[in-house]
Amino acid sequence: MTETEVSEDHPRYASLVTRHRIEAGVEEGITSKQGLIAQGRGEAFDYLLGERTLPSADRAARAAAATLLAAEHPVISVNGNVAALAPTETVELAETVDADIEVNLFNHTAERVGRIADHLREHGADEVKGLTGDGEIPGLSHARGVVDADGIESADVVVVPLEDGDRAAALDSMGKTEIVIDLNPGSRSPRTADVPIIDNLIRAVPNITDHARDLADAPPEELREIVDAFDADEALAAAEAAIRDGSFAAQDET
Ligand code: ATP
Repeated sequence: MTETEVSEDHPRYASLVTRHRIEAGVEEGITSKQGLIAQGRGEAFDYLLGERTLPSADRAARAAAATLLAAEHPVISVNGNVAALAPTETVELAETVDADIEVNLFNHTAERVGRIADHLREHGADEVKGLTGDGEIPGLSHARGVVDADGIESADVVVVPLEDGDRAAALDSMGKTEIVIDLNPGSRSPRTADVPIIDNLIRAVPNITDHARDLADAPPEELREIVDAFDADEALAAAEAAIRDGSFAAQDET
């Protein structure tokens, strides 16, 4: 069954489409096999969250949009799962907030970086960074710390969907403002983030773009107020509470 063969009225439509995209990503050499495991873990948390954007995650997406619009040099880091699941949405976000896109892989191979860059270009990206690898994230082993000098290394704000905890901590030590998208509020990377968005990246990326469009003409003071009013700990606690207090019956209503 391909993505187009999944009936839209299937009760698990969104979940099935997501699985097909990840499967296709692995077949095309874009997504790693470990990416499948990450996907499974994400699906479990999404199920517990009711497969919806919580009001707290929506506020986080707005704070992320304000942070990106106020940034000097924002960069969106793309791995194999992000490229497979939301290539068009990622390119749209980058265009809306004038951010660079950089391919940044945990299991780095030049071949896979090249394939992901091509895939993103096919989905409308003009320029994709991550192919030069002339910069580094200090404190990590060489293969895991490779970035572009004019990309993530010199960024002030980085969007890191599905980042691994060690790299999120190392980016934090470099003084970067981090926006992390992750479905698990207990994972180390959202706990390191300035703006943790506890949501499926499939919903979160276009949601940040919508907020950015809405805030496009906002003066710098308004952007600063939104950023200052955002409370990362509260966002994590709200997601954890939704998971702990949610009922499985609610799944039928979403
Ligand atoms: P950390 O090192 O930060 O503690 P982890 O070991 O929990 O991370 P992994 O095992 O690498 O993380 O799993 C990947 C993470 O990506 C999980 O936290 C999972 O919830 C998240 N994830 C997977 N798919 C998605 C998705 N579509 N949207 C948002 N988050 C996702």
